[in-house]
Amino acid sequence: MSIWEKNIRKVVPYVPGEQPNMPGMIKLNTNENPYPPAPGVIKALQEFKADKLRLYPDPTAKLLAYTLADYYNVGKDQVFVGVGSDDVLGMSFLTFFNSGKPILFPDITYSFYDVWAELFSIPFERPKLDHNFRIVKEDYYKKNGGVVIANPNAPTSICEDLDTLRDIIEHNQDCVVIIDEAYVDFGGTSAIRLINEYDNLLVVQTFSKSRSMAGMRIGYAFGNEKLIKALNDVKYSYNSYTLNQTSIILGMEAVKDKGYFEECTSKIIKTRSRVMGELKELGFSFPDSKTNFIFATHESIPAEELYTALREEKIFVRYFKKPRIDNYLRITVGTDDEMDALIKVLKEYIYNKK
Ligand code: PMP
Repeated sequence: MSIWEKNIRKVVPYVPGEQPNMPGMIKLNTNENPYPPAPGVIKALQEFKADKLRLYPDPTAKLLAYTLADYYNVGKDQVFVGVGSDDVLGMSFLTFFNSGKPILFPDITYSFYDVWAELFSIPFERPKLDHNFRIVKEDYYKKNGGVVIANPNAPTSICEDLDTLRDIIEHNQDCVVIIDEAYVDFGGTSAIRLINEYDNLLVVQTFSKSRSMAGMRIGYAFGNEKLIKALNDVKYSYNSYTLNQTSIILGMEAVKDKGYFEECTSKIIKTRSRVMGELKELGFSFPDSKTNFIFATHESIPAEELYTALREEKIFVRYFKKPRIDNYLRITVGTDDEMDALIKVLKEYIYNKK
């Protein structure tokens, strides 16, 4: 190996869910929203003047940041925006976790956390969720360099209550606590209301799930002004123009349409509860989901086998071959028709095995 090769930063990258593109496929593997973005977003995209692309976007993305601040009733200097919540989270790891002490996040959670920790040389420990995939809050009482909790959690779909989060934050006043709320709009309880109580709390959300804009890449965080300033300082030390012109405008349009947002999220919640009933009848069990996906295991057929059987019918769900969760499927809640097709294939497969 040459010397320059030895000096390359070695990382084991995060593996995103595959993005297959075949006619007739049903894609339930990356927790995208099956409904289109708000009508105002589509209109603004159609009317977008391409000439605007000559100019750099506003580096502060203030039109979008201020719209979010208004909508969520937080101060204008309590918002940070980024290119999807992955960007916001990655930037937060880089900004806040510099004590040299290990940061804490559960053994089963969003699998990007350990990748960022490795990338930025942040030591980490992963307290085990209990056998029902619940957080054991006492595990977070020990000295640490920061805490990251996805709530609701992925891929388990479980939402912990605010009292549990509050308790963890209370026990961690000397470090930054990040709550990743990518899925909170599907029935979870947000910790946004706690940001004025705890100056070390950062709450991160995304347009990718509840606002049907995964392809646009918009994420944001709320927190104390000092946290937001620190994030911006790091951002401006790396890449000032993170959000592009279209993201800023279309993102703003999405936030404006509260009615459409509520209509889509409630449709997904309704489909979710219907499908949970049907899966139960087929012999599946799962935690109570507060997300746009169901984390299901079958009483007799291994998850990997079902994953392959569904794939053969061009139905894509997510399967993680990892300790403790390798007998589970993570199934995104799609439209009613998509879910009917899923149930039909599962029913036939399971019936034929009997
Ligand atoms: N957090 C969690 C828990 C997620 O599952 C995802 C989606 N992969 C993200 C953050 C990142 O989403 P995005 O970058 O699209 O906002």
